[in-house]
Amino acid sequence: MRRRCLGWFCALFLLSLAMPAWAASLQVEPKRLALGQPALVRLCLEGKPERVRAELNGRETALQQGRDGCWYGAVAPDLQDKTGRALVRAIAGGKQVAAARIELYLRDRGARKLKVDPKYLTLSPEALKRYRRDRELMQKVFGSFTPQSEWRGGFMLPLDSAVVSVFGRRSFVNGVERSPHGGVDLRGATGTPVPAAADGTVALVIDAYFSGNTVLINHGQGLVSRYLHLSQALVKPGQKVKKGEIIGKVGATGRVTGPHLDFGVKLAGARVDPQDWVALSQVLAQRLGE
Ligand SMILES: [Zn+2]
Repeated sequence: MRRRCLGWFCALFLLSLAMPAWAASLQVEPKRLALGQPALVRLCLEGKPERVRAELNGRETALQQGRDGCWYGAVAPDLQDKTGRALVRAIAGGKQVAAARIELYLRDRGARKLKVDPKYLTLSPEALKRYRRDRELMQKVFGSFTPQSEWRGGFMLPLDSAVVSVFGRRSFVNGVERSPHGGVDLRGATGTPVPAAADGTVALVIDAYFSGNTVLINHGQGLVSRYLHLSQALVKPGQKVKKGEIIGKVGATGRVTGPHLDFGVKLAGARVDPQDWVALSQVLAQRLGE
């Protein structure tokens, strides 16, 4: 029997044999990532599937369609994830459509030594109870996923001041090693107004044992910013805030050695370098045509 293969139809048929259900191309930039460093994800695919996502180390992030029709977003390994090879997977309509290999490494940011009240090292039963409550309330926000992205046009660092302590530094508290620094410490005198880093909804306002007066802002799609050690919070949970709107004042509440703003960003629960995130969010905003 003679078969005929005609032009475009034939080409598409042969292509469909060679490719998965969606013809997709995935790019992750950079391919070598420090723990806590976000990467830009670009996924180009045919059709208009629902729920386009990227996944790294079990954390899913949403991708949004950009000006060129491709999908953009970010993934990030947590500060304390494993180093070595990892896989970024692109998911559309519930199925994996592409994957890209990346390499994760630990960036040496040095160490810091803090001398604090011993009550922050040996917790009383009441303090322990309070700390557990704080952690539960915060984890609930960090682990939440709201479908709508609320921010536009990139993030900013809340204060345009010197960085006192960078993200990812090892921390020795009264000589005992604790979690590495999960935010960036920005210089500021008590009372200095603290603006929101981007548009969002206030998710939590709490007086926490370690982080003092704390504000968490949900920016949608698993992206949360945090503002610690405030002397005062000026917003309420559920309140919508705009980028630059004052949400509190710099202080020295909780486990601190002096007044400063500890600013942090979490993406799908992963602690992300805020300085890297500010830079990447600008690129992302551009790709999305904001
Ligand atoms: Zn800090």
